[in-house]
Amino acid sequence: MKKQFVDLDNAREDEQKQVMEEIIKAGHCPFCQENFKLYNSQTSLRDGKYWFMIKNRWPYKNTKVHLIAIYKQHATNLDDIDSESGKELLDFLKWAEKEYDVPGGGWSMRFGDTDYSAGTVNHIHVQFIQPDINAPEYKPVKIKIGKRFK
Ligand SMILES: [Zn+2]
Repeated sequence: MKKQFVDLDNAREDEQKQVMEEIIKAGHCPFCQENFKLYNSQTSLRDGKYWFMIKNRWPYKNTKVHLIAIYKQHATNLDDIDSESGKELLDFLKWAEKEYDVPGGGWSMRFGDTDYSAGTVNHIHVQFIQPDINAPEYKPVKIKIGKRFK
């Protein structure tokens, strides 16, 4: 049975994998608020009724800004989130665009079964990214959706 909160196959960095292994041992969802502080030292940039927003502890390569909005209740599928939360999410993303003076980028939300989403943490969250297009050897930032069926 694969009802784990994190999917190690989708972790990108050694330190991230180590933290994820601790989380698996503890049986915690790292994005649920009661556990979040155990594994993250960042303070919230925004704190709303539905979402809180942080800097990604493990930003993707070639990103200049990489924030994550995390749904405050444990949620894995779109059906688990309140449609009203969409407005607050957009307000947060607009805040980030302005706060970090972002000329362009992308945001994405994956959901559900991590075989299909390729998410590391199976708790609804949204990535907000400004690519660092002036970085030496820049390569376009890609967000993976789904992993090859084994
Ligand atoms: Zn959770």
